[in-house]
Amino acid sequence: MNVPLVIAIDGTSASGKSTNARIVARTLGYIYVDTGAMYRTLAWYCLKQKVDVDDTRAVAALCRRWKTELVCVDGQVRLLVDGVYPEKEIRTAETSAAVPRVAAIPKVRAWMKKVQRQCIRFGNLVMEGRDIGTNIFPETEFKFYLDASLSERSRRRAADGVKENLAERDQRDSERAAAPLMIPLGATVINNSGMTSEETSARIIAEIRRRLDGVADSGPSL
Ligand code: C5P
Repeated sequence: MNVPLVIAIDGTSASGKSTNARIVARTLGYIYVDTGAMYRTLAWYCLKQKVDVDDTRAVAALCRRWKTELVCVDGQVRLLVDGVYPEKEIRTAETSAAVPRVAAIPKVRAWMKKVQRQCIRFGNLVMEGRDIGTNIFPETEFKFYLDASLSERSRRRAADGVKENLAERDQRDSERAAAPLMIPLGATVINNSGMTSEETSARIIAEIRRRLDGVADSGPSL
């Protein structure tokens, strides 16, 4: 039986991970997984339940007992909480500011790792986040790291109607002790400051196809 493939796309905030991961998933017919949405869902749930996001024990306890379910809808994995997918609620400035705090908690990251690895049951994946190539699926041969200049990333966020301090979020994500944001070993690094999403995704897809051809040529392991 073939083992499902995982395409890991990591990178800084607003570096184009979501847009490009969606295009790559659609083009290859793979399932798209937005792991940031999972952390955002936990941060939003903490705010809703009035749990202090800086209280490590309280957040870890909530994460242990919240009622969640993984589903796959229209080629995309969703983490439901109490049967609900809080799609809009998790994108507010308040949730964005809270999320790197909950994401820094080791027990939260351990919970997320277990759940994110379970996504493989839906098939081949394009999974985007901050630690996919380093921590969630370090065994995958398909690792990408996206970045762009801070001014370009801030411009993109503003164009989405969101005003937030990206530099501060990136700093928190890069400096935490548990699975910090970093370039995975062997990753293809793409700085897409001057590139369109068509160009970025085309580069990713070309690299995946090149590697898939190489894997097919080198033996029967897939
Ligand atoms: O990708 P997105 O901006 O939605 O991620 C929100 C936050 O979730 C990140 O800033 C980071 O704190 C956290 N995150 C993470 N690990 C991931 C995905 C997201 O720590 N794999």
